[in-house]
Amino acid sequence: MMICISCGAEYDNQEIIYTCRECGSILEVVCQPQVSRDIFECRKSTMWKYKEFMPVDHSLIVSLEEGGTPFCRCQKLGDDLGVELYVKVEGSNPTGSFKDRGMSVGITKARELGVDTVGCASTGNTSASLAAYAARAGLRCIVLLPSGKVALGKLAQAMFHGAEVISVRGNFDEALEAVTALALEGQLYLLNSVNPFRLEGQKSIGFEIVDDLGWKSPDRIILPVGNAGNISAIWKGITEFHEAGFISDLPRMTGIQAEGAAPIARAVEQGWEDIVPVENPETVATAIRIGAPVSAKKALRAIYESDGMAETVTDEEILDAQKLLARREGIGVEPASAASIAGLRKLVESGQIDKGEQIVCIVTGHLLKDPNTAINACKEPIEVDADISALSRIINQS
Ligand SMILES: *Cc1c(COP(=O)(O)O)cnc(C)c1O
Ligand SMILES: [Zn+2]
Repeated sequence: MMICISCGAEYDNQEIIYTCRECGSILEVVCQPQVSRDIFECRKSTMWKYKEFMPVDHSLIVSLEEGGTPFCRCQKLGDDLGVELYVKVEGSNPTGSFKDRGMSVGITKARELGVDTVGCASTGNTSASLAAYAARAGLRCIVLLPSGKVALGKLAQAMFHGAEVISVRGNFDEALEAVTALALEGQLYLLNSVNPFRLEGQKSIGFEIVDDLGWKSPDRIILPVGNAGNISAIWKGITEFHEAGFISDLPRMTGIQAEGAAPIARAVEQGWEDIVPVENPETVATAIRIGAPVSAKKALRAIYESDGMAETVTDEEILDAQKLLARREGIGVEPASAASIAGLRKLVESGQIDKGEQIVCIVTGHLLKDPNTAINACKEPIEVDADISALSRIINQS
């Protein structure tokens, strides 16, 4: 069953519906399996380890073994900041971002519903992931991308996996509105995160964090927020495990937005239950360049219920944090992902995060998603002949 998060209207899981017919709000899937946590033991570490919490037909699963991503202790960076820091490396998923978790469940649902065409609007990673999973399931895939604003690696993936890529003059919010209209006409099955089954897959990030910590919640989970599906999903997962009795404590959900695209941080600052959209969102972190986040209400609920917070960071702070994580801990992430680290630094410096807190930062996508930004942040290599004395002079220059 799906329920409307605003008016409580109920819908059958087999119905193709994205928003409430009664009030227009967003839906969520109800998932309350009666299981013990022992069943997870000895299972392979992919997100389907927790399949009882994935409400789709398990005989139709479309998977590339997503999930089970690295949970890296960052001792040096943590010591610098005075916290116990872990980084959940979502760039290690099959197409290089956490979107694969949601897409595995979403495409499985598409098969269950018997649709033949799937689609999305995307800042890049959703399209890369959808293209790959649609290919694996043998479904036609249509993706709408904001023209000129998609990082190179993501565009390469979407095209190479055989999606029909359409470049839309406008930003992500406009592309999403357009593809939603196509979906409502029945021309495609929409796999943006307004589709509540996407979030059922993304819950597994929360499952893995508490599993990795030995069935304990960290003090805080920090992540970048764009369309706000992921923060909502992780909170849903954590609370489901809490209600099932698998963990006894809960983390504070902490969402980080880019200064030029921060409707949720603004709402939290004002104590609002919903956002005011940002008209022309702008940031180097293209994956979170979103002005009207679809899951805003769920995200705000997650932040308020968990006694969490939201913060903004500048593009400069994002790029600094991206470099810091790469150089100090060897973890390469795309700019949007580094917002979590940038936010952590800012909140520690302002005293809003206490010394000694156990913190999990989610880094959402791989460095190679956006090679141009990475190259532009570095000096060009020196070119010389393959001559030992010339090389030796260069090496010993500094
Ligand atoms: C999609 C995405 C985000 C934002 O996630 P939301 O669920 O839209 O808030 C952040 N980082 C990366 C790399 C992404 O692909
Ligand atoms: Zn409703």
